[in-house]
Amino acid sequence: MALLEIAGMSVHYGRIEALRDVSLTVEEGEIVTLIGANGAGKTTTMRAVSGLIPLSRGSISFNGEDITRLRADLRVRRGICQSPEGRGVFPGMTVRENLDMGCYARKDRKGIDADFERVFELFPRLKERISQQGGTLSGGEQQMVAIGRALMARPRLLLLDEPSMGLAPQFIQQIFAIITEINQQGTTVLLVEQNAQQALSRAHRGYVLETGSVTRSSAANELLADPAVKEAYLGIA
Ligand code: ATP
Repeated sequence: MALLEIAGMSVHYGRIEALRDVSLTVEEGEIVTLIGANGAGKTTTMRAVSGLIPLSRGSISFNGEDITRLRADLRVRRGICQSPEGRGVFPGMTVRENLDMGCYARKDRKGIDADFERVFELFPRLKERISQQGGTLSGGEQQMVAIGRALMARPRLLLLDEPSMGLAPQFIQQIFAIITEINQQGTTVLLVEQNAQQALSRAHRGYVLETGSVTRSSAANELLADPAVKEAYLGIA
């Protein structure tokens, strides 16, 4: 049984069909990457898994449970957590307060303290800036807060939408290394990235979305080696 199983999913925005008959699975322990051009439906897929937008057809199950109509907050409690595109850091809150927002649903003080330590080990920069307001952090630091906050919910499945977006090259490397580390510590990851080369080289498997439909699904190294994928998404002819 896959941890996440999406079957025959369609999603509409009004009359616009953003996703059509999308099926994909994520096994426990995997990093799975979705690649596709602008507007292909990557963010919509993530929002559907988080429960932020309803399906017009199809189903989503998580850990064997049908969650197609489950409220978003209850999905968080089941262990699905999204670090959204555009980051969504609360500008008037400190780094600590932002991280605290990730674990509002938890009561296990010891576990929370351990996870604070884990986030600060992954992102030493955040420890230095623990009392700084979110809105005054650099783009890369805000991205770290957004990922750290998602980790504070102790997710079984972490949804990362464009984690490298807008980052300076040295941060991009760091974020991808951290994604691998988070995965090795036991969190399953579904990743959406424009930076397809990096994302696929960190992933176990990948899916290609084109105008709302899955057109390819393979082991990540096969996608990396595929001439059509190279030409369309990796900037290498
Ligand atoms: P990008 O890489 O540019 O973020 P994406 O693959 O994440 O693209 P989506 O954001 O999922 O693509 O958008 C899929 C399609 O749905 C696009 O055609 C987009 O214009 C449309 N769409 C997205 N959000 C809305 C909305 N709120 N209302 C209407 N159409 C929308």
